[in-house]
Amino acid sequence: MIPDWSAERREMVDRQLRRRGISDKRVLHAMSEVPREEFLPVEARILAYKDGPVDIGWGQTISQPYMTALMAQELELKGNETVLEVGAGCGYAAAVLGALAARVVTVEIVPELVDVARANLRRTCRDGNVLVVRGDGSMGYAGSAPYDAISVAAAAPDIPMSLVGQLGDPARAVIPVGSREGQELRVIRKRAGRIDFRTGVACRFVPLRGGEGWH
Ligand code: SAH
Repeated sequence: MIPDWSAERREMVDRQLRRRGISDKRVLHAMSEVPREEFLPVEARILAYKDGPVDIGWGQTISQPYMTALMAQELELKGNETVLEVGAGCGYAAAVLGALAARVVTVEIVPELVDVARANLRRTCRDGNVLVVRGDGSMGYAGSAPYDAISVAAAAPDIPMSLVGQLGDPARAVIPVGSREGQELRVIRKRAGRIDFRTGVACRFVPLRGGEGWH
């Protein structure tokens, strides 16, 4: 029998997202559609709707569902955007972003995870609008720039300015900034040539490697 996770998924959306203030209807819909269990190794699927990050191997994690939803909500996607994600991991957040935007390019530095993310997305993503690129995304990915939105899924000591340089106008970006032990989610908004930075919730992500990341 194929296990049915839809009840767990509905409960996650209600308890972990709606009750904590995620209100963007498109984000709530995407989170209730994308099968998170499909992005975890078979033996870890039991943890798919847990209220926290889960190890996915190679020292990396799949983010807490709330964090994936919050980051997506901060990007205020309407459906016609090109989005860059840095740090595909298993591809889950990219699938959520793919359900919210026209096109997603996600860069992953661990070669094995590139294969995992591609396989997971091929199995689950109806639109095929997510491209997984292998490489160091700490300086962005010039190939498809400018972007309407950028989501960085690994923490940096500062906002990498090369990423800001790949934003279109208008555009938004989210990135965890701080030390290895703890960070704050920074929200960047660009409009009519002006860039605003806002500090959001406390968070803890794996470090962004290479480039302008950790020294
Ligand atoms: N987006 C994932 C979370 C991934 S965790 C989700 O759906 O939950 C962060 C990922 O960033 C890890 O897979 C890690 O290998 C990757 N990463 C770290 N530094 C990177 C870099 N410079 N370029 C691309 N990926 C990077």
